[in-house]
Parts: sequence; structure tokens; C-alpha cells
Amino acid sequence: MRDAMGDLDAIAGRHVLVTGAGSGIGASVARRLGRAGARVTLAGRREAPLRAVAADLPDGAAHVVAGFDVTDPQAIADGLAGARAAFGPVSILVNNAGAAETAPFGRTSLAQWQSVIAVDLTSVFLVTQAVLPDLEAGGAGGRIVNIASTAGLVGYRYVSAYCAAKHGVIGLTRSLALELARTGITVNAICPGYTDTPLVREAIAAIIAKTGRTEAEVLAEMTAGNPQRRLVDPDEMAETVAWVVSPGAASINGQAIAVAGGEVMVG
Ligand code: NAD
Repeated sequence: MRDAMGDLDAIAGRHVLVTGAGSGIGASVARRLGRAGARVTLAGRREAPLRAVAADLPDGAAHVVAGFDVTDPQAIADGLAGARAAFGPVSILVNNAGAAETAPFGRTSLAQWQSVIAVDLTSVFLVTQAVLPDLEAGGAGGRIVNIASTAGLVGYRYVSAYCAAKHGVIGLTRSLALELARTGITVNAICPGYTDTPLVREAIAAIIAKTGRTEAEVLAEMTAGNPQRRLVDPDEMAETVAWVVSPGAASINGQAIAVAGGEVMVG
């Protein structure tokens, strides 16, 4: 198959592991790569949403791993064993699972801080280290894609823990890209701006409940920083991931690519 974004033939049949694949960006990425012929392990905590996404993939293209809490090394090891038994060694890893918590810095508790760092940063360390032997055995063409955030590139108010975690993901991405460069495996971060997913819809609902503002007002405020004045579509994130994992992107390494309509222009 030729693809507008590059030659995706080479990902047909390859084993892609997507974390947090039951919703939002992870679900779009899983559907996109499944349609391109990859065999996709959909990893996440809850089975029902993962099964619903799996039903959108071609027959035999999806393996569901529920109970895959990205903060739990044992759950990762167990899930990975099942994924390998189903589809063989992983050759493309998409670290997508994450969560955002909002609080002024002075009112961020240590428990909140530790939880955000665990879900958004330590998770990437744990899953990547567990999958790395597969990637190294597979050699050139292996891909690690970390879904970071524009909050990994610049600061935002009231999300200090999340910003710290996502900046950390980008640091990890850059270091590992250098460590693996000679193997032909690439490591990149994709940095979404506000994207239309359950994570953002829940944030909008919380702001409406707290402030009594209308949805249109909250959306306008949220998209004010994006020069295109809109939320990013999760399918746009999936297209970017599809490009980064394609063979034509072999020289894209250690990058933090903003997908945010021009909101952030540093890297
Ligand atoms: P989402 O809430 O739809 O998806 C996040 C997924 O991660 C969910 O399926 C959730 O269940 C899963 N998850 C959370 N904690 C987990 C854990 N401990 N173990 C396993 N899975 C867990 O939101 P999304 O917007 O699709 O988020 C995907 C990624 O994109 C996240 O890393 C998020 O930080 C990042 N991101 C999103 C936006 C945005 O505006 N939506 C912007 C920048 C970055």
C-alpha cells in the first residue's frame, strides 16, 4: 500500500504496542496503524473500551491486553508476555497513556505530584525498558514514539507536575535517541496541543461545573493559544505517528514534534 504520508508497506505485519489504546489519541493511533496492516496490541486498564477499539481493526489485527497499568512493572511484564505470545516481538512502541491534573503549584500535594510523575513519566521509563530487548533484537526500523505534550516544550500555569513530567519525557526521548542511534531504532516525542479527546472534554466539563461558563466560552479560551483557533483532531495525531514510524522517517530522531496549529514554535 502506498500512503499519502509516505510508504507504510513496511509496517504491514509489524507488531505495534500502543498504551492507553482505549480512547482518544491512543485509539486513533491504533486504528490508523491497524488499517495500514500492522498487528496492534491495544494495552490499557479497562477491557471494554479496548475491545471496542479492537472491533474497528481488521480481523486478526488486534490483541487486547487489559489490566495494563503503565505504573505497575508486574502488569507491564505480564501484558508484554501475552502480547509477544500473540504477535511476536514488539517492533514499534507508542507510549501514549497519560493523565493530567490541574492545581496551583502551592496546592499541589506530594501525592498528586507523585501520581502525575508516575503516570506521565515513570510509565515511559518502565514500558520502554521492558520492550527494549524486542526492539534491539529487531534492529533497524524499530520505533519508539512518546506522546508528550506542548507542556513538554513550554510551561503552562496550574499544571506544574504535568509540565515537569512531559518535559521529562522529552529529555528521556533525546537521551535514548542518542543511545540507540547506531541501531537504526528511532526515538521521538510527539507533542499535541489541546486535542479533542475524553481528557480535554472532561477538563471542559470540570471548568463549566466550577465557573458556570458556557461550553463555547471555555472552548474559545482553551483554543485561544492555538493560532488555528481549534482543537487538534486525534486523527491528526495518528497521521503524525504513522509518518514517524514509516521507513521514510528513519532520519527523524530525538525530535519533539509539536502538533498544535503553530501554538509552539520551539523544539
Ligand atoms: P485520554 O484520557 O483519552 O487517553 C489517555 C489514556 O491513557 C486513557 O485510555 C487512560 O485510561 C490511559 N491511562 C491513564 N492512566 C493509565 C495507567 N496508569 N495505565 C494505563 N493506561 C492509563 O486522553 P488523550 O488526550 O488521548 O491522551 C493521550 C496522551 O496524549 C496522554 O499522554 C496525554 O498526556 C497526551 N496529551 C493529550 C492532549 C490533549 O489535549 N488531549 C494534549 C497534550 C498531550
